[in-house]
Amino acid sequence: MARITIDQSASSIILFCQDCAVWHAFADDLAAAHDSAVAHENRTHPGTQEAAHARREWRRRARNAAATRR
Ligand SMILES: [Zn+2]
Repeated sequence: MARITIDQSASSIILFCQDCAVWHAFADDLAAAHDSAVAHENRTHPGTQEAAHARREWRRRARNAAATRR
């Protein structure tokens, strides 16, 4: 199971894969971070869905947040 941490600071987002230990990536925003995590998961950890699930959950929460701001 791939466990990818998304570390969001003020200026940039850093991703770490706890399973690879060496893999990390940078992203400009959370959408790009989740895309990068899913791409890594598909490439390096085929069969795992954790990043894909996290991206689905994030998109759902982002949609809800946008809806409640209106
Ligand atoms: Zn990995």
